[in-house]
Amino acid sequence: SAKNNGRKCLHFFHSTMENYSIQRIEMERQLRHALDNHEFRLFYQPQFNLETGAIDGAEALIRWQHPQKGLIAPDEFIPMAEDTGMIVPIGEWVLKQAWAECQNWHRAGHALRVGVNLSAHQFNHAQLTDLASMVLSDTIIDASFLELELTESLVMRQAEDTLTALNALKKSGIRLAIDDFGTGYSSLSYLKQFPIDRLKIDRSFVGDLANNPNDAAIVVAIIAMAHCMGLEVIAEGVETEEQLKFLRMHDCNQVQGYLTGKPLPANEFLALLSAKPEPAIGEVHRS
Ligand code: C2E
Ligand code: MG
Ligand code: MG
Ligand code: MG
Repeated sequence: SAKNNGRKCLHFFHSTMENYSIQRIEMERQLRHALDNHEFRLFYQPQFNLETGAIDGAEALIRWQHPQKGLIAPDEFIPMAEDTGMIVPIGEWVLKQAWAECQNWHRAGHALRVGVNLSAHQFNHAQLTDLASMVLSDTIIDASFLELELTESLVMRQAEDTLTALNALKKSGIRLAIDDFGTGYSSLSYLKQFPIDRLKIDRSFVGDLANNPNDAAIVVAIIAMAHCMGLEVIAEGVETEEQLKFLRMHDCNQVQGYLTGKPLPANEFLALLSAKPEPAIGEVHRS
């Protein structure tokens, strides 16, 4: 009967909800354990400046070194960290760790910038600006060596407190970038109100650059627009010489991708900086 079906449905719904919250609690427990147990690692991917031919920065990318499952990619646990709120303490660890590593580079004679990804959830958390100023106090290097990567949707959600927070971060000297640019909905006139320093062109436009005239047109337009607005522009996911040549020809400022370097553990990244320039990177520089 309809009544029985209704009851079954209700029962089904209820147990699914229950499973879902049990999974969440279990996931939160695991993430907290991972943080307490120092299982998170930051890898650093070089950002290659096309004007100077030097590595001028690196993006910090989190991984989970799981004792049983091995190295886990961020896409597999960041959404859960956001869902459970664990992104707040994890994000705090990332920011402190990345900034400490950036200071290591500077002490070793490499004046590089570090990029840190921020999720919207961290942004809602009132302590973000406090955290940033805490991280920056007690440091020998300039705040402009820290670049926070935000998503288009975060910046575009038209909240007044978002603008206030971004202005406060900018005032402290921190650089701001928009990550995965082109994948969301940005109003250009709105974008102009924000104290943004750089756009990061999403790699979905870069991958097929050489064969897809639409992608090529989008990339050229983003670079031109960014420069008109006084912004720098970096292309993500650059894997081939052909893509690099195109980006150089259109005055893209920097590139980040497997061609110029994969994300590396901190010690390997520092070794790369200290080594003599590789012939491959030399070639990339010469055009
Ligand atoms: P993202 O910030 O856009 O980072 C770039 C992603 O592209 C990285 O993936 C990087 O390894 C990958 N990549 C770089 N060059 C190439 C290339 O030439 N080809 C291809 N196919 N891929 C390339 P990863 O490390 O798996 O990170 C995925 C996403 O996870 C990041 O995208 C970012 O949104 C998020 N994420 C990473 N670390 C953090 C973090 O500390 N906090 C937060 N909130 N999110 C993070
Ligand atoms: Mg990023
Ligand atoms: Mg990106
Ligand atoms: Mg991404």
